[in-house]
Amino acid sequence: MSESSVARRARRGLALWHDRGAEIRPMPAGGLSVPSCSQPGRSYRVSLAGEGRCGCADWRRRRQPCKHLFAALIWAAKQRRALVLAGRRAA
Ligand SMILES: [Zn+2]
Repeated sequence: MSESSVARRARRGLALWHDRGAEIRPMPAGGLSVPSCSQPGRSYRVSLAGEGRCGCADWRRRRQPCKHLFAALIWAAKQRRALVLAGRRAA
């Protein structure tokens, strides 16, 4: 895996989170639902457990972090930050 392919997916993941982050949500069965960029109405199930996995063709082919995984990571980091800030307010 070249570094540029990781950087490119990280950048696309950031853009996906920026544009469609409001559509990312936890799934009842676990994992996160992350919208597809190319196919309207479609979303992929992303798991952040371990090294992470995604249901998209890119991840299945490469077994390396895809843009959905990066978008989910940013979303999860923001959620944790929101929880920390909410906890501080409550204290
Ligand atoms: Zn993916």
